[in-house]
Amino acid sequence: MKFNQFVIIGLGRFGSSIGQELIQLGYEVLGVDRDEEKVEEMSRVLTHAVVADATEEGVLRSIGARNFDCGVVAIGDDIQASILAAILLKELGVKKVVAKAVSGLHGRVLERIGVDRVIYPERDMGIRLAHQLVSPNLLDYIELSKQYTIAELNVPGCLSGKTLSEVNPRGRYGCSIVAINKPKGIIIAPTATDVLAERDVMVVIGTNQQIESFQHSIGQ
Ligand code: ATP
Repeated sequence: MKFNQFVIIGLGRFGSSIGQELIQLGYEVLGVDRDEEKVEEMSRVLTHAVVADATEEGVLRSIGARNFDCGVVAIGDDIQASILAAILLKELGVKKVVAKAVSGLHGRVLERIGVDRVIYPERDMGIRLAHQLVSPNLLDYIELSKQYTIAELNVPGCLSGKTLSEVNPRGRYGCSIVAINKPKGIIIAPTATDVLAERDVMVVIGTNQQIESFQHSIGQ
């Protein structure tokens, strides 16, 4: 489902960063915060920003929260406020509600009350950074399941000038290069004769074990 209008509850570092990016992407964003200074600051950036307590049903009704396709609850410290705001957005009929959790228990409560997606920004960023620290050429990754991952890897010097058939990660380790991002553009579904260069980024799909073996073989 594609959303066009977003309401963000809580304009701290996390909420304002989401809002700013959505605006850059061309979407409409209403920001809500009980702190006047934060609202003042973000009112220059967002489509609208209002000072309001998001735990009050009447307030959310009056700002027309139900007309938004997607609501993001970006309150961390005040767990009670986060839960109340999330419940109210769901009850008002906001189609998709995403909420930030600061602990496992907070996250479980948010899931129980029907939040569509619970995110743990600090925890997830910590995990991501740990992976990148131990594999410096790992730029990013998406876990498709517990077993399968898509990883973006820098092409190291030792692979520069080699064709995919020479590198042969599928034959050797079982994982496949599904795209090569070159400075000139991206090659989707590259063939055996495509050549890697040092500044390229390869997108690799496979099991965690296969990708690890491949990374290991190229000194990462
Ligand atoms: P950050 O995103 O900066 O890491 P945080 O996780 O520390 O934030 P808080 O600072 O607790 O989270 O909350 C983020 C914002 O949510 C703050 O600007 C705060 O004023 C706002 N906020 C908290 N409770 C409410 C509420 N009931 N109604 C509206 N805004 C609220």
